[in-house]
Amino acid sequence: MKMNNRSLNLKKYFFLLTGLLFISLSAQRKTFTVVLDAGHGGSDMGANRYYPEVGQVNEKDVTLGVVLKLGKLLERERDIQVVYTRTTDTYPSLTERTNLANRSKADLFISVHCNSTPQRIATAYGSETYVQGPNQNEANLEVAKRENSVIYLDKEDRQNFASYDPNSPESFIALKLQQSKYLEGSLLFGSMVEQNFEKKDGRYSRGVKQQNLHVLRLNAMPSVLIETGFINHPDDGLYLASSSGQQAIAESIYNAILSYRKAVNRNNNNVVSKDYTTTSSRETPIKNDMRILLMSTPSRYAENDPALRGLNYILPIKEGLIYKYYYATTNLTSVKDNNIKTAKDAGFLNAVAIGFIPNLIIPGVYYRIELAVTKDKLDKSSYILQALKDVKRNKRKGIFYYTYGKVNTLEAAVQLRKALEEKGIRNTVIEKVKE
Ligand SMILES: [Zn+2]
Repeated sequence: MKMNNRSLNLKKYFFLLTGLLFISLSAQRKTFTVVLDAGHGGSDMGANRYYPEVGQVNEKDVTLGVVLKLGKLLERERDIQVVYTRTTDTYPSLTERTNLANRSKADLFISVHCNSTPQRIATAYGSETYVQGPNQNEANLEVAKRENSVIYLDKEDRQNFASYDPNSPESFIALKLQQSKYLEGSLLFGSMVEQNFEKKDGRYSRGVKQQNLHVLRLNAMPSVLIETGFINHPDDGLYLASSSGQQAIAESIYNAILSYRKAVNRNNNNVVSKDYTTTSSRETPIKNDMRILLMSTPSRYAENDPALRGLNYILPIKEGLIYKYYYATTNLTSVKDNNIKTAKDAGFLNAVAIGFIPNLIIPGVYYRIELAVTKDKLDKSSYILQALKDVKRNKRKGIFYYTYGKVNTLEAAVQLRKALEEKGIRNTVIEKVKE
């Protein structure tokens, strides 16, 4: 055992010495760390195609070209630290890539790849960005098969990935962590990248998609895998092979990183929805608070329910028998637009912004907190009944409804709900009641 550990440590040290995992450090304290991962490398060529105009085009060379150009742009930013998984034609294992990202406590992980199809010449073209997520479909599975290629997994990878059982507790926790904690950031950044490709470079964006990809799966930070184009589509292929194409791709990703960094709060990796741009731009806040209505349904979902597709900052408001799930709050139009995009990318295709007048008092309406809905009466010793006084119980059609408090604005109800959360009472719903 001891020998094994030592040889493992030596191996890791050797990795660092050889510069395979090259960390760009600066004397200055950096505040935002980006890991740039050039897909494939070494004996793993990735997708490839021969073009008479330029010869053999290998994915591993395109991804390195883009990453080095992108790194050069980022290194000009004083407060951004760049970490490369590779800067030469080598193959760091997927585990090494993930470990490096986690060790660096990075704020963002960007894996650069090229797409391809099984045909000799692709009919598909354009870019797409993948985030780790639960939504799998047939077309995306092709991407997963290719990018997860087991052939190149080393021993450690195989242990980590090949025997990957999505139902094992560790896998479940890792996935859950990814999905709820980093999905929003990943979606936001992914949509910024795709927007730049489309609007700045005039390319066709196939959008932001969710897929279970090894290189993203265990990263403890917002992470994306960018398929920069189809190497076996003639237009895309020659664009990817060209220095100017790679530069344009690098610049679009670079601009997305700057936009993303503005949008997140470094301290908690949360997407800050309110007021974040007021110091850096002149956008005037609008009068109303905008929330994104994700869905209206008779179902009551707990915060981590898959139905909420990994989104945080959900505010459930019950009206009558219907639960309305709202996502994020902002009084800035640009942020609202981004929030709608994030909601749609997460799968809420009918997401729509709803304006709320702050501190509005509606005559004959009050708000209370629905603590629990249950078939069986709560036990007297239950935490809720122990922690709170004046909990009300109603029975309707054999179901018990436990409610608490009475306030006259939504803001007061949000505060009350937050106070309950701090007491450990979670998954409550704000109920709008007509007297
Ligand atoms: Zn690839």
